[in-house]
Amino acid sequence: MVLGIMAEWGEKKGIDLLGTADWTHPLWFKELESQLEEDGEGIFKVKRSESKTRYVLSCEISNIYSQGGKTRRIHTVFFSPSLETVNKINGELRRRGGKLMSDGRPILGLTIPEMCEIVWSIDERVMVVPAHIWTPWFSMFGSKSGFDSVEECFGEYGDRITAIETGLSSNPVMNWRIKDLEKRAIVSFSDAHSPKKLGREVTVFEVERDKLSFEALREGFKKEGKGCRISYSLEFYPEEGKYHYTGHRNCGVRQSPEETRKKGASCHVCGKPLTVGVMHRVDELAKEGEEIKAVKKVSEAGVVGYYHPEDKLRPPYVMLVPLQEIISEAVGVGVNSKRVQEAYEQLVASLGSELDVLMKVKIEEIAKVGGERVAEAMDKVRRGKIVIKPGYDGVFGEVKIWEKAGEEEEVRGKTEQQTLF
Ligand SMILES: [Zn+2]
Ligand SMILES: [Zn+2]
Repeated sequence: MVLGIMAEWGEKKGIDLLGTADWTHPLWFKELESQLEEDGEGIFKVKRSESKTRYVLSCEISNIYSQGGKTRRIHTVFFSPSLETVNKINGELRRRGGKLMSDGRPILGLTIPEMCEIVWSIDERVMVVPAHIWTPWFSMFGSKSGFDSVEECFGEYGDRITAIETGLSSNPVMNWRIKDLEKRAIVSFSDAHSPKKLGREVTVFEVERDKLSFEALREGFKKEGKGCRISYSLEFYPEEGKYHYTGHRNCGVRQSPEETRKKGASCHVCGKPLTVGVMHRVDELAKEGEEIKAVKKVSEAGVVGYYHPEDKLRPPYVMLVPLQEIISEAVGVGVNSKRVQEAYEQLVASLGSELDVLMKVKIEEIAKVGGERVAEAMDKVRRGKIVIKPGYDGVFGEVKIWEKAGEEEEVRGKTEQQTLF
């Protein structure tokens, strides 16, 4: 994921602004310094490049430390307005013994309040966003090594945390149930470790193109920001995430929150503690008796369905499945197969971008390029007519667009007749 390849995939996906990631890493930082130039305050582009992709300086840090007799492991995303600020922060982290060379996402022994103190004494504009806040092992609300509130984690700096990131295993409606998040914006990012996975989740900001700046983004990252606001977010089905349900991977044990309440959180095969999934953890921290507050606007005529909150200050969101997974299900071959890759490239090249294909392009147009089966799959995904086997204890969930066993054969039969791939 070098800048040029990220730009290429950003365009395929239809994402205008990408996080650079990893600015703590000395070699990557050198690359950023030599290749990027500012294009608007705090927004960067690759020098001499025609690409419309823009970057914001971001990194993720893993802090592991002990508090209240428990080991805490917290991942946090930091956004910097300038290379100069990054340089100062990296210098200070090194001075405190941080081994920044060891990983793109370094592990530091500093506490979260110490991190805040460091970055904000260098530059008050730095944005600090708790990452994938529900994952059991490495997050603010994680069941294994997190906290029960923003304040418990951030101490005196809690008030300055204006946004949290949902992670793949949770979606906004789950987060709307948490009192602690009522005043905070909810953002979603892809956490991509390879270019193909960019855009698994996306936050769409509404801002005039020439007003895009770091300062505008800072407003966008507030629930009641001015000038720039979240228009909607695109979400992975949380069931697809690796930690949606509670379970034990080695024993193949997977439990819904209801089952966990009945059977407890120990593995009934081996007796070890289960990894408590995101859904159960949300239930634990949710307000007493708080019901889910989403209203689904069911899609008609092949238009994607948005989920609208009751709280007017909250943006709606859409739930989608990555296009390559849809094609894979439709043609009945693996997602990494040549056939799926070629079909993906063809659809994206002919119809705009992946986000366009997922959300906007007419089903008939998709059929013309990708065949009837892919078009039908797309229509089902847009309507939410799919089944997902929830992920648990590090195992990704599985998307099933055609659920009945009998239909499997039919899928294959139709696939053979496809000529367009
Ligand atoms: Zn992380
Ligand atoms: Zn077990």
